[in-house]
Amino acid sequence: MDPALGPPEEMAEKREELTPMMAQYHDLCARYDDALVLFQVGDFYETFCGAAERTARLLELTLTKREDSTGTYPMTGIPIDNVASYVEGLLEAGYRVAIADQVEDPEEATGVVERAVTRVVTPGTLTEDELLAGADNNFVAALARDGDERGLALLDVSTGDFLATSSTRAESIADEVSRFSPAEAILGPAVSSELLPEDVLVTPYDRAAFELERASELVATYFGDPDARLASEAEIRACGALLSYAEYARGGVDAEDVDEPDDGGERARDGPRLEYLTHLTRYDPREYLLLDAVALRSLELFEPRAVGATEEATLVGVLDETASALGSRTLSDWLRRPLRDPAEIEDRLDAVEELTTAVGSREALHELLRDVYDLERLIGRISRERATARDLRSLHDTLAVVPDVRTELEFAESDRLTELYDELDPLADVRELIDRAIVEAPPIELTEGGIIAEGYDEDLDALRETARDGKRWIDELEARERERTGINSLKVGYNSVHGYYIEVTKPNLESVPGDYERRQTLKNAERFVTPELKSREDEIVSSEERADRREYDRFREVRRRVGAEVERVQALADALASLDAFVSLATVAAQYDYCRPELLERGDGARIHVEGGRHPVVERSQSSFVPNDARLSNDRRLAIVTGPNMSGKSTYMRQVALIVLLAQLGSFVPARATTLTPVDRIFTRVGASDDIAGGRSTFMVEMDELATILEGADEHSLVLLDEVGRGTSTADGMAIARAMAEHLHDEVGALTLFATHHHPLTELADELEAAVNCHFEATEVDGAVTFDHELVPGAAEGSYGVEVATTAGLPESVIERSRDLLEATVRADRDDASDSSATADGGDDPTDVAAELRALELAHMTPVEALAELDRLKRLLEDR
Ligand code: ATP
Repeated sequence: MDPALGPPEEMAEKREELTPMMAQYHDLCARYDDALVLFQVGDFYETFCGAAERTARLLELTLTKREDSTGTYPMTGIPIDNVASYVEGLLEAGYRVAIADQVEDPEEATGVVERAVTRVVTPGTLTEDELLAGADNNFVAALARDGDERGLALLDVSTGDFLATSSTRAESIADEVSRFSPAEAILGPAVSSELLPEDVLVTPYDRAAFELERASELVATYFGDPDARLASEAEIRACGALLSYAEYARGGVDAEDVDEPDDGGERARDGPRLEYLTHLTRYDPREYLLLDAVALRSLELFEPRAVGATEEATLVGVLDETASALGSRTLSDWLRRPLRDPAEIEDRLDAVEELTTAVGSREALHELLRDVYDLERLIGRISRERATARDLRSLHDTLAVVPDVRTELEFAESDRLTELYDELDPLADVRELIDRAIVEAPPIELTEGGIIAEGYDEDLDALRETARDGKRWIDELEARERERTGINSLKVGYNSVHGYYIEVTKPNLESVPGDYERRQTLKNAERFVTPELKSREDEIVSSEERADRREYDRFREVRRRVGAEVERVQALADALASLDAFVSLATVAAQYDYCRPELLERGDGARIHVEGGRHPVVERSQSSFVPNDARLSNDRRLAIVTGPNMSGKSTYMRQVALIVLLAQLGSFVPARATTLTPVDRIFTRVGASDDIAGGRSTFMVEMDELATILEGADEHSLVLLDEVGRGTSTADGMAIARAMAEHLHDEVGALTLFATHHHPLTELADELEAAVNCHFEATEVDGAVTFDHELVPGAAEGSYGVEVATTAGLPESVIERSRDLLEATVRADRDDASDSSATADGGDDPTDVAAELRALELAHMTPVEALAELDRLKRLLEDR
């Protein structure tokens, strides 16, 4: 076992003898034995023994030691003020971190200060803003199995987004996992980690949490009858286990149960209720356009493929003009899950169109939304009781924007915008409460006063008045004493050890009156008190302290009252988020000249028609971009795209897929005009990649991807093949490519774009009824090639590979040699061709007829069939 985890051996041996504090540490380590425990002692989080050695090394902190009557223990302290960055280091090293805070005021504690784990930080359950990368969702997943059914639950602890789905197909669940790319996952019994991408941290978790009965109960406490909410038992198991895990990560124990004996074997690890979990969205993957991990990557939705490229080089990078973190997350979700239902897509498109034309409102809304804080995380912190007074003010400031947002939408006509108008509840009561209770610019510290506004609490105001009176009295005292003693530099001060004092500098000491009592000697001055000062001191200090404490209590009460409105705040957050996403889509549409796509009903047959389409990402990165058309439909379902290297084939294919994807998420598209029937799935086989870690060669990766396509695609799919059969011999490669194309055309019927350098594939256009050729051309002047990037009908003439290689800077000698070799091959091919045409002209190559004759199974033929076959073969020979 990792020596940083679990109770340190040297403590376990003498548990009964340990000092109360160390015993507490030991017990928390035992209770949270899969996490590294950070144990608050004053301003530090301490770790001891093995954990101390590990933290010191990992975080480059100084290893010290703690000595008490029972022994000497290695110790490392992490300053509380800076804890976030250190926790990050521990998470990166693969630890979960249990934070054990002091949960009672040390001054009030009798005996050892009570401590409890207030949260367990894991990569998938972060709520600390400093640790979360920007606005993006951070999911933790649970995968469960019930018979053939596999259930998936996903939760973003920082925002409360909670989703569930299930399927009998393992691949379908794997696709959904990659769609959301969780940071962490827990797996139920019989679930293989192969369903997860490699970068997901798998956390071992109590399997009992996946049991149906226990899971159902937990789901029911949050969302009511699980059977009514969820579609399968696998989903219930996944959701229940995930809730249990989230509760555990929230910090399992309230202070009261810290001393409860551990019940050994099966731990009931669920912690306190998570108030911010108010809705659970069950979805069916079939409602959304399916993008598997390969497609997400190759279409560069969220991550650029080129090493070192920035987010600008991704679809989300060019599409996200949102003003708030809320909007940004929603837009990402829409991108991750484009729709299939034309009616829903049209609803979104109507909203985008309206905002595209209403320029004034759109710009005003964008400006207003910039003042919207991350409400989901804010209300999460508020209901977890971790919010500061500043957080409450931020909520207030966001609420203050809502009436203006509503005004901008007052005359909206589209269904979605009018719905949003209705959903934008300004929460006037909450706003008014915060405004009345909390001062405008409160300090971060919660226990030192200065938070609650004047007039909110009469008793508090009275306490403050007493304290103020006292201060005034002190000021007067100072003036009085100066006059009495004649010492002008005399002053009255305060420190926490000696309380109030009168300070007199050394040269004036002989003027000090007899009733002054000496308290402290400094280098240049002496400090005194008088009985009068002492008698008032208690009153002043205690009223200040009581005021501070009362403020804190009142603050917590306000925070709880606001926290109770979590559902309303989340509903408002949803509405603002969707609005922001719509405004963003409209802004991009207007700024970059996108058009509204026209959607067709399925009944009309599959169709993707794009006029003057552009690649949304590539067009932004260069000064000019040549638009191209695409015409795919049932009767033109296989387009073979040829052309030299670098002429634009890949760009073109991806642009078609991105236009479809944008249209289905409800966005305008970079084209002059677009008409399409929504597709169910986009498949891609693009570019070569090794999967060395997974033990698969380039060729095997490619074959796996092709197998997935052939298995999953149907006539409602869009398939992009960017060269097939590269990692093997030309003959094998070509054979596979051709068979693949024929199968897609004949059996699958998917709309397919197939870019290839295998020139003979262009013959398919003549042989297959619904296959067409199109190509990019190159112009060659004095050995230099240029491209106009314009797609034209027909097959390309040459590949210009050698010429393009010149521009890449291959040594001249290699280029020359390539040219020679190429010429020799072309000449030989030409000779072969004329030889074989001579044979064909000769008309009697009997080999294939002979083979057919040999293959005839005469025993299974009627005489008439045999006669007909004989006649056919004879004709074949005569036709030559
Ligand atoms: P290869 O066969 O080597 O994979 P390719 O034909 O797929 O090449 P792309 O990678 O699509 O070529 O395009 C090469 C470059 O040409 C792109 O990086 C882009 O800069 C430019 N390009 C592609 N299409 C266009 C276009 N329509 N308008 C302007 N520039 C384009």
